[in-house]
Amino acid sequence: MHAPSPHGSVGNAPVEGRGADHIAPDCAGQNFYAIDRGLRDLVRLYLEPDDLGRLEPHFDRLGILAGGRLDELARVADQHPPVLNARDRFGRDEDWIDYHSSYREMEQIAFGDFQFHAMSHRAGTLGMDRPLPAVAKYAMQYLFVQAEFGLMCPISVTDTSIHLIRKFAAAELKDYLLPKMLSGDVATMWKGTQFMTERAGGSDVGAIETTARCEEGEWRLYGDKWFCSHADADVALLLARPEGAPAGTRGLALFALPRRLKDGRRNAYRIVRLKDKLGTRSMASGEILLEGAVAYPVGDAGRGFKQMMEQVNLSRLSHGVRASAMMRRCVNEALVCARGRLAFGKTIIEYPLLRRQLLKIIVPTEQALSMFLFTASTMDRANAGSKEAESLLRILTPLLKFRACRDNIPVATGAMEVRGGNGYIEEWVHARLIRDAHVGVLWEGTSNINALDIVSRAVGKSRAHRTLEVALRKLLDEATQVPAAFRDRLRSALDRALAFAERVAAEPALEESARQVASSLYHITSAILMVWEAGQPGTDARRALYARFALEHRLTAQDPLAPCYGEWERKAEELVFSERQVAIAEVTGLLA
Ligand SMILES: Cc1cc2nc3c(=O)[nH]c(=O)nc-3n(C[C@H](O)[C@H](O)[C@H](O)COP(=O)(O)OP(=O)(O)OC[C@H]3O[C@@H](n4cnc5c(N)ncnc54)[C@H](O)[C@@H]3O)c2cc1C
Repeated sequence: MHAPSPHGSVGNAPVEGRGADHIAPDCAGQNFYAIDRGLRDLVRLYLEPDDLGRLEPHFDRLGILAGGRLDELARVADQHPPVLNARDRFGRDEDWIDYHSSYREMEQIAFGDFQFHAMSHRAGTLGMDRPLPAVAKYAMQYLFVQAEFGLMCPISVTDTSIHLIRKFAAAELKDYLLPKMLSGDVATMWKGTQFMTERAGGSDVGAIETTARCEEGEWRLYGDKWFCSHADADVALLLARPEGAPAGTRGLALFALPRRLKDGRRNAYRIVRLKDKLGTRSMASGEILLEGAVAYPVGDAGRGFKQMMEQVNLSRLSHGVRASAMMRRCVNEALVCARGRLAFGKTIIEYPLLRRQLLKIIVPTEQALSMFLFTASTMDRANAGSKEAESLLRILTPLLKFRACRDNIPVATGAMEVRGGNGYIEEWVHARLIRDAHVGVLWEGTSNINALDIVSRAVGKSRAHRTLEVALRKLLDEATQVPAAFRDRLRSALDRALAFAERVAAEPALEESARQVASSLYHITSAILMVWEAGQPGTDARRALYARFALEHRLTAQDPLAPCYGEWERKAEELVFSERQVAIAEVTGLLA
């Protein structure tokens, strides 16, 4: 049995105690799946009915955990970060990391119970007779991260390491590593990670200085990895330059670095220290010194960087999902607070200015939800062999990573502000959400690196924006329940965003506009997705209103010296804040 929470499980119930009822409740005790109308609608659209039938009880179970036990554990783990022990009591360099029991319990839930790391790779997780679709995996990540962000790094990087090993490693290496990595036995399984960044380069991967030498038939690594999340993983995938290989990314080879050698001895590398981080505090990020560590080559030595980019792209998608999840937590917290807090004799949700602030939290959250589920369903089609989906995925992934991770920061701050002063106090979730949000614009490519990837490669080289155009036009054609005039406005915004992207891709002198291109493509894509989703039978139609907010407030010029809200926004707000299902007929009059 779980121990009772020291924080109490109040949900929306009034809090008892002298003066305590003045404080608005938080989301403790809520089922994060049950209260997420957007998620429930969209998994129904993007999952096969059979899969949904089998998986929905698990979404529900995870929703309860995320609003309950996981959230309690996450709060404690955040306050008890991991500790590095550099030596044992005999002075041997047997470095190890101690974790708080709260973190270990979360690992049990993630790797043992739900087996997130294996669900894409084998049958048998969550009672499924085949691997889970990407839509289901990322929906699970989304629920989990609403409670705990730090551990999602080890979970995801184990999942993506398995992907790389399955795809590129030789049969012998697969046979050695995969059974251990795919195990659901937390006590004995091998978890994965990815070490790339060095002092000389994070964005500039080609500057990596770690070298690989072949000594007596074994590859040994020498170097210094500067940012190593999940520092004590059992297997790390990393890039190193074999002696004599060319400079730049072309000369980098991919290796799998085991923590323990086959005879059980520690491999020749040390965790030198752990980083004292702003966020993701439950998870250990460290610095690693490679002192002739044995490593196994993975795949083609000349294609190390390209192979590693597969892992990077999978992580980017997961980061977009994580940002969406944290934004959803912010929305849930902000709404519970806004409906529960009294000021000047009214609940604060009744004040126009506060409602506008709430909309600024809600719209980016719903955009990110649509974007990640569409991207995940595109991944499912790409995995089934669709070349069109592969091209679409090429542009959707960095778009999601870029914008959702950026939006997460103001959304987290906005939700804190709704709670007022309490939002700044560490015993509420907001401080952690704000701290965790910021890493999204750094790891797996900063905002600039993702924006440049979109413009130079996805648009300029791969022409993936044209695949996106075809997909979006098709969705607009299908959204016949939405007034034609509104769809025409979206078509014209799409035309302009695509033309802008092509222009910036073609003219190197316009590189400063890369982020603007990335944002505009994201906003128009998410707006069209939400319009299409709103028109599907049984789906809550307020998604079309979010689409109009994105169109008017993100893709249309605003006069800074004119009122920012008009009549349609006020009417739309009434529907957005109503707590019932909204029908498409109720919103069409607001879609001009
Ligand atoms: C908590 C945490 C955990 C991490 N864990 C890992 C891990 O497990 N494994 C791993 O490999 N890495 C990890 N990283 C490292 C992370 O991926 C890098 O910090 C990131 O890629 C940026 O690299 P950098 O720090 O060297 O910054 P730099 O590359 O030096 O960038 C500095 C600034 O310059 C900008 N910039 C760089 N090039 C350009 C350009 N061409 N045009 C415009 N602007 C540019 C960047 O956008 C950034 O704003 C982690 C980082 C953090 C904070």
